[in-house]
Amino acid sequence: MEPIPFTVVEITPQARAASDRVLASGWITTGRETLAFQREWADQAGAAQCVMVSSCTAAIELCLRALELPPNSKVLTTTTTFCGVVNAILAAGYRPVFADLAHPGEAADVADSYMVSERTVREAADRAGGVDAMVVLHFAGHPADVEALARAARLPLSRVLEDAAHGIGTSVGGRVVGGISQATCFSFYPTKNLPMPEGGAITTDDAAFAAKLTALRLHGMTADAWKRYLPGGSWQYTVAARGMKANMTDVQAAIGREQLKHLPRWQARREEIRARYDKQLAGIPGLGLPRPTKRGRSAWHLYVVRVRPEFGMARDDLIAYLTERGVATSVHFIPAHTMPAYAGFAPPGGLPNAEAVFEEVVSLPLYPLLSDAQVDRICAVIGQAHADAGGAS
Ligand SMILES: *Cc1c(COP(=O)(O)O)cnc(C)c1O
Repeated sequence: MEPIPFTVVEITPQARAASDRVLASGWITTGRETLAFQREWADQAGAAQCVMVSSCTAAIELCLRALELPPNSKVLTTTTTFCGVVNAILAAGYRPVFADLAHPGEAADVADSYMVSERTVREAADRAGGVDAMVVLHFAGHPADVEALARAARLPLSRVLEDAAHGIGTSVGGRVVGGISQATCFSFYPTKNLPMPEGGAITTDDAAFAAKLTALRLHGMTADAWKRYLPGGSWQYTVAARGMKANMTDVQAAIGREQLKHLPRWQARREEIRARYDKQLAGIPGLGLPRPTKRGRSAWHLYVVRVRPEFGMARDDLIAYLTERGVATSVHFIPAHTMPAYAGFAPPGGLPNAEAVFEEVVSLPLYPLLSDAQVDRICAVIGQAHADAGGAS
């Protein structure tokens, strides 16, 4: 049987045509397409401003730098996150403070969404003697209660950033992610909900902050420096702050603008797939399913299941069993505090909740091009694994 990949990227014919058009136009780096994409992205994210950049990792670093905190300031993050977030904190000259996942038995929609809770954020902040800023992750696309977590960290929203790499399509309460905290960072990495040949976006309601980001993403040069080689552009510029090289190109933006038109359809398909998984996997003993949170709408970037002892087979053995039968999976995430590069920032006793969750979770394929028949096959293989393992029934 045909293998089922963990992810399949869909670039629409319209997006390919748009990239051709830009490549033939004579202007291929940041320009009018990027400006138009910024406007469209700000609108759909419910924010006043958008700055397009090269990646979500760069977006987070730029936002952290634009906060202009003193060197070695403490930035709180969940340990169950992508390493790029930690690298961004360090590259900005700050120190990561790792928070654990929710304690077992805390509100199920937090504990089973594999996110930090108000309690674990408070514990991490207290352990560090207070924190100066925080990056909130909408893990798997599930809405995190940004305002409650900010209070728990004793931070104003102006010191809170959101990592919405999984959160394209997430709402918290009735609000689309993008205008809640100081700034929200999105990823257009090919596995994410709006796939592109890389890219990132920052949304904010703060015009001065957006202007700072616009300069910082292009070496720190004055905001209109991108057009210095256009007819009528000026060669003159100032460098007011040390910036990064993290601008988006017009080729990327033209692709993104076309891809954006398909987002509602893709999100609807993700919702169908996760409902199909829920229905067929419910009732397999020892298999924990993601809980739809009541705090808003999930973007369903990932479908993470938890393989508990009653399943009869350890997580790694289930991954091997699926691999042998042509089903690719992944694990999100290896706790960052266990990485050698960040050992100096790991709390002495480790972070037991995140470590326990990490041993038992596996992410199943979830993307718009996944067919019903493929979902059914994945579920059948998981059911067979449980039966073969002689697990409880
Ligand atoms: C993918 C991802 C990022 C980084 O996105 P890039 O655009 O690849 O830099 C950051 N945080 C999380 C949680 C991610 O999954």
